[in-house]
Amino acid sequence: MEELEPALYIVPTPIGNLEDITFRAVRILKSARIICAEDTRHSRPLLEHLGVSSPVLESFHDHNETEKAARIITWIQEGKSVALISDAGTPLISDPGYHLVVACVAAGIRVVPLPGPCAVITALEAAGFPTDRFCFEGFLPVKEKALYDRLESLRHETRTMVFYETPRRMPETAKALARVFGDREIAVGREMTKTFETFYRTTCEKLAEALAQDPGSVKGEMVAVLYPWRESSQESGLSAEALKLLKLLMTELPVKKAARIVSEIHGCSKNEVYREALTLEKEKPDF
Ligand code: SAM
Repeated sequence: MEELEPALYIVPTPIGNLEDITFRAVRILKSARIICAEDTRHSRPLLEHLGVSSPVLESFHDHNETEKAARIITWIQEGKSVALISDAGTPLISDPGYHLVVACVAAGIRVVPLPGPCAVITALEAAGFPTDRFCFEGFLPVKEKALYDRLESLRHETRTMVFYETPRRMPETAKALARVFGDREIAVGREMTKTFETFYRTTCEKLAEALAQDPGSVKGEMVAVLYPWRESSQESGLSAEALKLLKLLMTELPVKKAARIVSEIHGCSKNEVYREALTLEKEKPDF
């Protein structure tokens, strides 16, 4: 077995599909002297699947993070390599690990980050919304006032926004999103990388309506991606449908032609649609 340099290795693991792990992640997990896992019972089958034989597993979760960090630092200072994994995806991203990394940095211990699966990035890959600038908002607050305050603070956010949500909370969250963002476009990535992976692309209002009618229909893990605020579209009042058609046509036609077709179909001003189209052109990433 390879002797790893004593350090803290942050190792992302699959968010569903067991093939989604890097060669390097497997090598580090096989070589680390200690693997710290959020839920050791949950991680054992994955490690077995990866061929990590008889790992030294230590539990590391929200409730023991501070106390455990001091012990982990001692292990690394004694010359041991420690890998940190979470139940799924990248540690520290709405998962434990932040306080440990802060403590390691303060103690002068090397922190080795590995790239890998993360639901934020996976959802952005397929949402079809601008990816040149985005912000991750994690889980929204549960309490009503805090939830609305947070959403209000994001009303004029010009970056694409990514939220984590649980199926149980999703109908309430969709209702709040509809109240604050109206017919703003939203994409929901559900069970990504798994057998029943689905992407819904709709508006906040339609999402809230659908979930209000059938709250039980929301199952599985999900990420919501919200279209950024754009001054031009808010002022022009271009409907979500018109905007959607414009975007679609712009993938195939010159800007002017796309704008003319949209204005004819939706009965809105050609100049207004053209201005919108130019804004969309500008928002396209340069690469
Ligand atoms: N650290 C993880 C990561 O890197 O994405 C996230 C952990 S957080 C506790 C769990 C949340 O991530 C879920 O509630 C859901 O919002 C999102 N998530 C994780 N796996 C997912 C998947 N396969 N499909 C959709 N969302 C997922």
